[in-house]
Amino acid sequence: MKSILLFGIALMLSVFVISCSKNEPLEEVAAMPEVTEFVKSRVISLGFSAEEIIATEGGFIVEGDIFISNEDIAASWIEDLQTLQIGENEQYNTTNLVTGLPRNITVFLKTSGSRSLPASYGAALDIALARYNAENLRVTFTRVYSASAGNIDITRASGSYLASAGFPTSSGNPYGSVEVNSSAIGTGTSSTFNNYLATILAHEIGHCIGFRHTDYMDRSYSCGGATANEGASTVGAIHIPGTPTTADPNSWMLACIGTNGNRPFNANDRTALSYLY
Ligand SMILES: [Zn+2]
Repeated sequence: MKSILLFGIALMLSVFVISCSKNEPLEEVAAMPEVTEFVKSRVISLGFSAEEIIATEGGFIVEGDIFISNEDIAASWIEDLQTLQIGENEQYNTTNLVTGLPRNITVFLKTSGSRSLPASYGAALDIALARYNAENLRVTFTRVYSASAGNIDITRASGSYLASAGFPTSSGNPYGSVEVNSSAIGTGTSSTFNNYLATILAHEIGHCIGFRHTDYMDRSYSCGGATANEGASTVGAIHIPGTPTTADPNSWMLACIGTNGNRPFNANDRTALSYLY
């Protein structure tokens, strides 16, 4: 059980408590008093639940670990989005995917300067990228050591959540940044820790290339607590053929993870990955 104080700013009035759960969300979620009705309506239009929105730097966090920028909230193209068919209960992707395949995606881990992460995190990143590259997909990943060369930059988050990311752009590029909260995750060099962090990084990269939460229909499946439908509509929650419509306890895209949990791709994950890429 964990009780975690969220965003210690004056506007933050509530503490979100997860009870009867062994897992913690990749981000904590809670309703923020200053989230306006307009913001909620735009979040819904984008296809996400408006139940749990966190105001954060430059935008909002929805569904626990998904970042939506202020620019996206204000964008007029949202009104032109069409609702897509909602699938069953497992393995979802968003409408936007990375295009221009086959394609190599470069990933940069920031280990110096502002918002930098421990250099030891590189071992976990290497594991995460190797997990993808072992699948012989039409997207491959290469770690780079210069910020300007990274399609995805991984930097330190300022919130108390574990990590956050976003979805591919409408022009077919991966989401460009992953924020990781090293103070919440901690550091370590053991294989257990590295696999745990690799699972978090692979999960966030999964968002960047278009995967939603496997248990998006009810995040209480992996997070515990009350039933909470993350919602679905215009970002697109499309059931991927061949993946189950029953619960999958080991997917790397479950919304919550227990400390030191390790979720390499399982058979259903591989089906989903190979279908999309
Ligand atoms: Zn997530």
